[in-house]
Amino acid sequence: MARKKLIAGNWKMNGLLSEGVDLAKEIVAEVKKLGKPGCEFLICPPATLLTSVKKTLRGAKVALGAQDSHWENKGAHTGDISPAMIKEIGCTYVILGHSERRADHGETNEIVAKKAKAAHENGLKTIICIGESEAERDSGKTLDVCTSQIAGSVPEDSTAADTVIAYEPIWAIGTGKTPTPADVEEVHAAVRKALAKKLGKAQASKMRILYGGSVKPGNAKEFLSLEDVDGALIGGASLKAADFLGIAKNAGCC
Ligand code: PEP
Repeated sequence: MARKKLIAGNWKMNGLLSEGVDLAKEIVAEVKKLGKPGCEFLICPPATLLTSVKKTLRGAKVALGAQDSHWENKGAHTGDISPAMIKEIGCTYVILGHSERRADHGETNEIVAKKAKAAHENGLKTIICIGESEAERDSGKTLDVCTSQIAGSVPEDSTAADTVIAYEPIWAIGTGKTPTPADVEEVHAAVRKALAKKLGKAQASKMRILYGGSVKPGNAKEFLSLEDVDGALIGGASLKAADFLGIAKNAGCC
């Protein structure tokens, strides 16, 4: 089953207005040069930039995503942003359950599942993040942690059309450290098995599972050529157009 690779940039809390718009313009210019890219591109700027970046993306083969959304569409939730709001701006994706949100905002699997359900109801595609801490990895719990995050964070009625999974070992995020390709292969295979148990084989075989954690142009190929790796969620390297595009090019998917 062919799954189109997704190259997704998570800008996190980076970029003032002009910087963000400039970066988006550079990415659009580079993607245009590719003509018909064989992969899908997505950028997820901070909420303050979504409206301006959306204008920059007009007509380009680059989708827009947010980095979080609430489980309700409106109400008394100071500081939050709702799925209806980001949909209205023109987002087609939202990242949910990133380890930084799980750590900084106490997001549990249950909260992530509630948010994902609401995002799907609003016609958004979700990128649901999972991944083990260094201590969990060192004590041999990686597969248990990741499969239980799949069981708890992915809504029952999710489909391959509305859900993407991102496996991001927490200890590899922003550190320059990465698991071995064999480790990534083992986790992605276990995640697909857990998805099959939860959503059925048909959806699981079509659902994209991204790898994230210190992906750079130099290591893109070793991860993105693995059987069950259907793209990358990229933090630091997504803040430079050349690196972001370099990942897709070196991976041979565009
Ligand atoms: C991320 O936070 O989603 C991420 C993968 O970051 P980095 O690429 O910087 O490790």
